[in-house]
Order: sequence, then structure tokens, then C-alpha cells
Amino acid sequence: MAKTTNVCSFLRFILSISRVRNVYKRKYSAKYGCYHLPRNNMEQDREKCGHCSAPLSGRADKRYCSDQCRAAAGNLRKHLDPAQQLMGRLNRVLGHNRQVLCQLSPQGKAILRREVLLMAGFDFRYFTHLHHTPTGNLYHFCYDYGYLLLPEERILIVNGHHWLDKAA
Ligand SMILES: [Zn+2]
Repeated sequence: MAKTTNVCSFLRFILSISRVRNVYKRKYSAKYGCYHLPRNNMEQDREKCGHCSAPLSGRADKRYCSDQCRAAAGNLRKHLDPAQQLMGRLNRVLGHNRQVLCQLSPQGKAILRREVLLMAGFDFRYFTHLHHTPTGNLYHFCYDYGYLLLPEERILIVNGHHWLDKAA
């Protein structure tokens, strides 16, 4: 009997920790700007799926009825979050820039006119990082592809840091 009581109070203790943790998680998200959907009724939310509102069963801290609903809610959050939208747009531009550099330098190294890159939709405003060589050259990189601005509107495209290590 005493053992059962102990198990029950232990389970109650675990559940209370889990509830407190969820409350703090929400407060933290609100305070530090992570986006989450507005919640009208916390008690009701605990009993319904956070995405499709189907009744929940199982663990007390369960928020979604299925993995599909969890993924769909995550996708919706990303879709509505302006910071995620901005990062998505930047990643698409950076990915396209990398693709242009890759396609225009099939041998891993090429010298082209700047307008060739512009015609392929390359956006010179966006790059992932810079690399200064000991000889004083400044390479702009889009992930593993980089370029160096040369005189007379020409561009030297290089593939990866391996080439830079050798050149330096
Ligand atoms: Zn659901």
C-alpha cells in the first residue's frame, strides 16, 4: 500500500515538473522572440491537438495527435515566422549563387566576364564568407565556391578552400 502511494506521488511529481517545464518553455519563447501561434485557452489546448484540434490521448505533455500534425505545425510556424522567411530567401539566393559559380567553372577554376555571372542571375550582394590570402587578395565565397574580382570586369572563380590553401 505504502509502495503504491509512493509510486503515485512520484508520478504526480513527474507530471507537475513536466507542466512547469512547458509553462517556462512558453514564457521563454514569448520573452526571447521565438514565434509561436497565439493560444486562447491553455486548458483546452492541453486536451486538443495543437494543429488539427483532434482530442489528445496518452502522455500529459502531448501537444499533437500525430507526427504528421507535429511536422505540419512546425512547417506552419516556419511559414509564418518573418525571420524564417528571410533566412529561406537568403538561403535560396546563396544556393543559386553557388550553383552559378559551380556551373560556370566545371573544371573548378575559370575566368569570366562579370556580365556572364549577372546574366546567369548571380547576385553579388550575397556571399557566405570572405577569405583574405597572404598575398592580399580578397575572395568572396558562396559555400565552397569563391570568386576574386579581377581588373577589367573579370571574375576568377575557384572551387573550395583546397585551391586557396595551395595558392596561399
Ligand atoms: Zn492533429
